[in-house]
Amino acid sequence: MATMESLISLVNRIQRACTVLGDHGGADTALPTLWEALPSVAVVGGQSSGKSSVLESIVGRDFLPRGSGIVTRRPLVLQLHKTEDGQPEYAEFLHLPKKIFTDFSLVRKEIADETDRLTGRTKQISPIPIQLSIYSPKVVNLTLIDLPGLTKIAVEGQPDSIVQEIESMVRSYVEKPNSIILAISPANQDIATSDAIKLAREVDPSGERTFGVLTKLDLMDKGTDALDVLEGRSYKLQHPWVGIVNRSQADINKNVDMIAARHKEREYFATSPEYSHLSSTMGSEYLAKLLSKHLESVIRVKIPSITSLINKTIEELESEMDHLGRPIGVDAGAQLYTILELCRAFEKIFKEHLDGGRPGGDRIYGVFDNQLPTALKKLPFDRHLSLQNVRKVVSEADGYQPHLIAPEQGYRRLIEGALNYFRGPAEASVDAVHLVLKELVRKSIGETQELNRFPTLQSELAASCHQSLERFREDGKKTAIRLVDMEASYLTVEFFRNLPQEVEKGSNTVAPTVDRYTEGHFRRIASNVSSYIGMVSETLRLSVPKAAVHCQVREAKRSLLSLFYAQVGRKEAKQLGLLLDEDPALMERRVQCAKRLELYKSARDEIDAVSWAR
Ligand code: GDP
Ligand code: MG
Repeated sequence: MATMESLISLVNRIQRACTVLGDHGGADTALPTLWEALPSVAVVGGQSSGKSSVLESIVGRDFLPRGSGIVTRRPLVLQLHKTEDGQPEYAEFLHLPKKIFTDFSLVRKEIADETDRLTGRTKQISPIPIQLSIYSPKVVNLTLIDLPGLTKIAVEGQPDSIVQEIESMVRSYVEKPNSIILAISPANQDIATSDAIKLAREVDPSGERTFGVLTKLDLMDKGTDALDVLEGRSYKLQHPWVGIVNRSQADINKNVDMIAARHKEREYFATSPEYSHLSSTMGSEYLAKLLSKHLESVIRVKIPSITSLINKTIEELESEMDHLGRPIGVDAGAQLYTILELCRAFEKIFKEHLDGGRPGGDRIYGVFDNQLPTALKKLPFDRHLSLQNVRKVVSEADGYQPHLIAPEQGYRRLIEGALNYFRGPAEASVDAVHLVLKELVRKSIGETQELNRFPTLQSELAASCHQSLERFREDGKKTAIRLVDMEASYLTVEFFRNLPQEVEKGSNTVAPTVDRYTEGHFRRIASNVSSYIGMVSETLRLSVPKAAVHCQVREAKRSLLSLFYAQVGRKEAKQLGLLLDEDPALMERRVQCAKRLELYKSARDEIDAVSWAR
């Protein structure tokens, strides 16, 4: 069963959680605010209009700081909790948990001290509220927010800007649709000049959430009365106006206590010739009950929308937290674990690129299938085996004694010369594979979501991978060049054995020596060398890819991160922390989101704990 008490105290508990977790409606963090969704009563009025007096008489205690100048410089969230008759009265500040105040003059001192603690002696104002709970059998359940008095001029010692600052702070509280405005105006002033009514009219033109309170009825000029205001003719509001008679300064000086003052006020309305017909709806006790009842009904109406707001926000905050990632432990073990986890995530993506599943690995096959064969085809063997060059090379190899049967040396030189050309495409294939691998590392780092938080780790990981790939490239080149060199160091004998013998083919009518130097002879040599080179080219077309895959691709899959792991293993705890140093804005955001999430969850628990009468 939801009772009056349980509803208002529910909101009180949520409000306290808001203050503890830094939600007082300030929009500076761009975080969702629960505070603003909670209904509350904000007290507004000009300086000396009687705000403090009204609050004190609602509570039935003196506990607010007094003095000249702007005394209230931080909002005071005053939560009243009704206790059983006969229970002791006490107060408690949220910022001083477990400290019970039974002496209300100490409450007054603590409000003043706590104000200064935040605003300093400079007498600045601050929007961060002080939260005070009063437990008493004499109060009604109610939450009121005392705000600095609206003023026209700064008093000495306070900066001129304070006038504007107060106005915007008060406005920020009352413009919220969930704010109930307690607008205090003194009766001994023209209502048309009331600061409270002026502001209320601006933020609540229909008057549906404004309660008009007229103080100082006893101080009106003889022969005048406030019936035009109290009966709603001067300024119409949805709720009836309430007239109040607080203690005068003289009463305060004489230490007239609150109970006596309430009694006096009741008597005033009962016996007043002007107001006795209204006496049942006048006075601070009536005002307290009226507000409590209204707050109660507003909360009852708002609870479903607050609940759905809470659930929606929890979802949003949780998904943002997921996005921001888990916070990392501060000890070296946790950091190392995080780094290794991130490396694993990266490696998995990198392998998917190579093995398929993610694009990019196919470009390595492109190197072998297209780039290498094209480069081989473009090698300038036509020039190398031109008649002219063959004749030159063979003659030079012969020296003074031309070859008798076959130009053994000439063949060798022509072949060796041709084989040299293969180094280029072999190296180029290794380089091309290297570039693909490097690009895949870059892509994979970008695609490892979890890594995005850690720019330092990202760049160190990339640098280390590049270093490894560089090693693989060197090894790949050595191996590919070695394949070419191997071709040069031992020629395939069978190829030559199987060549048709020239001498036997030559006709007897022509002298062998003459035949040996004809164009046909050199052409034959060129063609033999050309087909030998073609055979080698085919071999290399098949073996260079094997070298590149063996030395580069396979190694990248097996040990791309070995170097990085070794580097990380040598790091001290502090250096590990540096690797994981996140963007500070992001860390801050995570802390804020976590706090806000905690708030919303505790609010949800609070609401769940109350069973509703529907
Ligand atoms: P605040 O600045 O709005 O908080 O105003 P205070 O509550 O401090 O009141 C300013 C002065 O007006 C004090 O000296 C009060 O005693 C006096 N005062 C407030 N309300 C009444 C009232 O209804 N009747 C009389 N006679 N004096 C009042
Ligand atoms: Mg005051």
